[in-house]
Amino acid sequence: MIDSMKALVKARPEPGLRMESRPIPEPGPEDVLIRIRKTGICGTDIHIWNWDEWARRTVPVGLITGHEFAGEIVAIGAQVKGLAIGQRCSGEGHLIGKDSRQSRAGKFHLDPGTRGIGVNVDGAFAEYLCLPAFNAVLLPDFVDDEIGAILDPLGNAVHTALSFDLLGEDVLITGAGPIGIMAAAVARHAGARHVVITDINPARLELAARVADVVPVDPRAENLRDVIARLGMVQGFDVGLEMSGSQAALDQMVEAMVMGGRIALLGIPPGKSPVDWSRIVFKAITIKGVYGREIFETWYKMIAMLENGLNIRAIITHRMAAEDFAQGFEIMRSGSSGKIVLDWG
Ligand code: NAD
Ligand code: ZN
Repeated sequence: MIDSMKALVKARPEPGLRMESRPIPEPGPEDVLIRIRKTGICGTDIHIWNWDEWARRTVPVGLITGHEFAGEIVAIGAQVKGLAIGQRCSGEGHLIGKDSRQSRAGKFHLDPGTRGIGVNVDGAFAEYLCLPAFNAVLLPDFVDDEIGAILDPLGNAVHTALSFDLLGEDVLITGAGPIGIMAAAVARHAGARHVVITDINPARLELAARVADVVPVDPRAENLRDVIARLGMVQGFDVGLEMSGSQAALDQMVEAMVMGGRIALLGIPPGKSPVDWSRIVFKAITIKGVYGREIFETWYKMIAMLENGLNIRAIITHRMAAEDFAQGFEIMRSGSSGKIVLDWG
């Protein structure tokens, strides 16, 4: 009986990750053990690799990283109901408590005690992952393992994009990273009229145009006012999805919104940044912060949309064996790739 597994670990308090041998975790009575098939590399993993200020403050040394995964249930705890060995699954990587006011109201994604797999507790960059059964999300046949492995970031995109009614609306997305691009595809699917996406990286704008039916704009080359005129929009954008974390992008977004526009913020600025609040007040703009995915409404909606024609496969630009993780992180750090999926066999 093999009792050890390969795992990608923040082995030392310094940049990089190491593939190490770890004991296969033992599922508790309410857990499932998942044999990992595919994982996605996330921007969060890059922060952990780089060992930046946030990572040093947040991530314990010795942690198994990774939170985007798909796999197969290979063991279940004694008290788990409704799941069976052999089922394919992905899962919510935010571990929540059930005692807070928010959780007791059914708003699990707002539990203030949330901990993240691959960030605060051992994660999915390994041959096996132990996860509370509550967090497992079964995958229907039409969601294969590589799409299953990127449901977590697709869920960020879906949660943000579905924050506001998009039917017939003009939508501006700032930041054509993997999440911004997937949000563009979702906005299209949800019936937006125009979907404009901005980025300052031409490779990312090209990728956006390959994945979704969008108008890519480099704001250094073209003013959003000109784009609004070119598309025949009267005032500006009805809905903004900020997905870059850039102060400049948020400023441009506020300027390009209609009176009474609605903005959802997913992008995380690196620190405090000056905001011209008077513009936001006088434009009567609604701003919503978005964290994670709604548990489990976002999962339900995204799987339903994937069944019903949402196609985001082209956002996966690289596929490689887990052993080649260093190359995957190198490509991801270059900032020009889409999603990179590691295969754990
Ligand atoms: P990413 O870093 O791959 O993409 C961000 C993109 O923004 C890049 O392509 C970059 O070139 C672009 N950008 C930078 N400055 C810009 C500007 N001035 N105008 C337009 N675009 C600009 O990130 P991602 O993985 O796609 O994630 C998107 C954002 O969401 C990140 O800020 C990430 O930290 C954040 N995030 C938040 C949550 C959450 O729960 N709130 C979860 C996941 C990711
Ligand atoms: Zn992620």
